[in-house]
Amino acid sequence: MVKPKTEEEIALMRENAILVSKTLAEVGKAVAPGVTTLELNRVAETYIRDNGAIPSFLGYEGFPAALCISVNDVVVHGFPSDYVLKEGDIVSVDCGTLYKGYNGDSAYTFPVGEVDEEARKLLEVTKESLYRGIAKAVDGNRIGDIGHAVQSYAESFGFSVVRELEGHGIGREMHENPGVPNYGRPGRGPKLIDGMTICIEPMINAGTRGVYLARNGWEVHTADHRKSAHFELTVVVRKGVPEVLSTFDYIEKSGVGF
Ligand code: MG
Ligand code: MG
Repeated sequence: MVKPKTEEEIALMRENAILVSKTLAEVGKAVAPGVTTLELNRVAETYIRDNGAIPSFLGYEGFPAALCISVNDVVVHGFPSDYVLKEGDIVSVDCGTLYKGYNGDSAYTFPVGEVDEEARKLLEVTKESLYRGIAKAVDGNRIGDIGHAVQSYAESFGFSVVRELEGHGIGREMHENPGVPNYGRPGRGPKLIDGMTICIEPMINAGTRGVYLARNGWEVHTADHRKSAHFELTVVVRKGVPEVLSTFDYIEKSGVGF
């Protein structure tokens, strides 16, 4: 059984989620053609530490950086590197922080300069599919309701849902139960209970849903090398209307999102 969080725990997670959200906005301001993904990682790590938190991805099962940075056909878990971003790329930035004993985790996929129409549509649909999933994070629903909402929306545009990776519960551990797949059937899976904290994170491919793991054991690529997008927010299951702890407002009010 998954234990719901107390309101005291949720209050700490709310603070942390704001920090993660602001970190993503700082990174977004730095996204531009000519910038390396290592530079984006440096921006995030500095901001997180300056605000008294710890970048939780760094060292997690040996992960080498503060951010997962996944460009174009990389779905998730990309390593920051000396790759230079170029006009037309899309770059997924996934950020985790540890603050006062609790974890925060969110992701946004940024367009680099002008992107083509398919890439723009992929970003819009993936972000909207996240919000469709969040709307189902209501006490009494089941995990399958979330996945079904994400999947049916994304597939209605001809895009595909990655099955090998999923969202998760979050709290003292970055990854807690239950798993939160981005596909599913309504009314199936574990029941959602008021106070459960979960990360919903659709990974949506422009082409086929197949993926493969790179030789470094981390980076997940699309099998057809077409683009993939990824958005993630941390949510509290509530009665009636879910409470979204992290937010893309800082990104979008800075004019660096889309
Ligand atoms: Mg994440
Ligand atoms: Mg996550």
